Amino acid sequence: VPSDSKQFAGEIAEDGIRYVLMRPDVLMGVAHELDASSAQAFLRALERSAFRHVQMSFTRYQAREPLSGTDFIANTCEAAARLGWGVWSAIHERDSSLIVEVRNSPFAAGFGVSDKPVCSAIVGILRAVALTAYGLDCQVTELACAAQGAPACRFEIRSPVGAEIVY
Ligand SMILES: [Zn+2]
Repeated sequence: VPSDSKQFAGEIAEDGIRYVLMRPDVLMGVAHELDASSAQAFLRALERSAFRHVQMSFTRYQAREPLSGTDFIANTCEAAARLGWGVWSAIHERDSSLIVEVRNSPFAAGFGVSDKPVCSAIVGILRAVALTAYGLDCQVTELACAAQGAPACRFEIRSPVGAEIVY
């Protein structure tokens, strides 16, 4: 639980940002309340919302205490575990891409079995991570998802053509 919990105000906050403890099956169950195309629209919207909101926080953190791209990514992986977003590890693959592996994703666990990847919220976060760490508008794809039976969710952060990703 984040350290400066304001339990008496009915609020959990860390660094001035409010969080809510919610069962992942409640959040991801929204998709199961919708028809297939609306469910896909929900997952894409979750990606965009995660990107937009976390990007604002990342900009604030970097303004206060600028970190190198590598340190920023390491920090994010640590924060993810603390906030219950699974165990994240970044693996440099090629100069133009970075692989992030997420074990124990709450989104996959909350969704259940799926034939498509479901961790769109993590895709949104990783787009913001790439923008903050590298200043690049990267393409992020979930290559394999635990909801599809993969041992871990695996994301590829691919830089725009010609740009190098250093990790
Ligand atoms: Zn996944």
